[in-house]
Amino acid sequence: MAKMYYDQDVQLDVLQGKTVAVIGYGSQGHAHAQNLRDNGINVVIGLRRGKSWEKAEEDGFQVYSVSEATQQADIVMLLLPDESQPQVYEQEIKPYLRENQALAFAHGFNVHFNQVVPPDNVDVFLVAPKGPGHVVRRVFQEGGGVPGLIAVYQDVTGQAKEIALAYSKGIGCTRAAVIETTFREETETDLFGEQAVLCGGLAALIKAGFETLTEAGYQPEVVYFECLHEMKLIVDLIYEEGLAGMRYSVSDTAQWGDLTAGPRIINEQTKQEMKKLLEEIQSGQFAKGWVLENQANRPMFNALTRRENEHLIEQVGRQLREKMPFVKGKGVLKDVVTSA
Ligand code: NDP
Ligand code: MG
Ligand code: MG
Repeated sequence: MAKMYYDQDVQLDVLQGKTVAVIGYGSQGHAHAQNLRDNGINVVIGLRRGKSWEKAEEDGFQVYSVSEATQQADIVMLLLPDESQPQVYEQEIKPYLRENQALAFAHGFNVHFNQVVPPDNVDVFLVAPKGPGHVVRRVFQEGGGVPGLIAVYQDVTGQAKEIALAYSKGIGCTRAAVIETTFREETETDLFGEQAVLCGGLAALIKAGFETLTEAGYQPEVVYFECLHEMKLIVDLIYEEGLAGMRYSVSDTAQWGDLTAGPRIINEQTKQEMKKLLEEIQSGQFAKGWVLENQANRPMFNALTRRENEHLIEQVGRQLREKMPFVKGKGVLKDVVTSA
């Protein structure tokens, strides 16, 4: 049984009087910084000059260069995109790290796959919320929390785990559940989850359903609501009451279809492919490919993203969501949509 931590198990005290430097103010960065601040913890932001810098200042934070923020901090939380962490770490963090400081991550990728090699005189841990950054903030404001994982890679002060737990409470994770794990387990399960199920699997399932119906001549708008929009309504039921809750709420006809057709769509062959994905993650093959793709300036990443953004489902969706301001609202995609 996994070791779980909840609000009442964790004290924030160990963070009192300490300064957390949140490096990066993107999806996770803004959420960590604002949630910690709401919990009375002293936060500074480390960034390069640019859009995020302005936003963090507008939100009332003290913003510094990455090296200055590192020097001011007791805990340095690295929330830059994974692929830019190694270079920024080498140039702007590593030279300024002091003994007994803590270097923290929200994902184990760079440490586990040796893209960032921390010195042996600092604590190294991760606090990985199991949810998108914007949701980490939103749910916190609503009084809830997103579950999180903590792991200690290196404990120099003897306090690394206590600090990691306090940090996880500071961003709201202990309101849901915090589980202790290892860098390896967090990294491999996270990569597998986003590839096979949450992002890759889900997007491919929605698209395949959409294409099958539109290619058979059904109206794209009808199909959009059927295969994409309604996904959230179904997933909300699953989130609240599990698969059984969803099955209770849908019609018996839908449940019969679910039970008999589902295993034909996600079948033994799909599972074999999942095992291959997992093996590529475990062996470092996926990590190597992603590191090289970045070094090559992302030719495939950009081409594939562009192609996906032009898909009919996106064109139809943009139009339909215009008429549903209650769905849009959050504006996470503001910058992307206008440039698409
Ligand atoms: P984002 O892409 O949202 O972070 C971008 C931020 O980093 C921006 O503030 C950007 O500033 C800044 N930045 C980028 N490059 C540099 C640089 N060279 N120097 C200084 N600042 C820079 O990252 P995420 O929040 O998605 O990811 C952060 C970490 O959290 C990753 O380790 C990720 O795996 C992990 N994680 C992310 C989740 C998520 O929901 N996205 C979920 C769980 C974990 P600017 O505006 O100047 O570009
Ligand atoms: Mg994840
Ligand atoms: Mg991830």
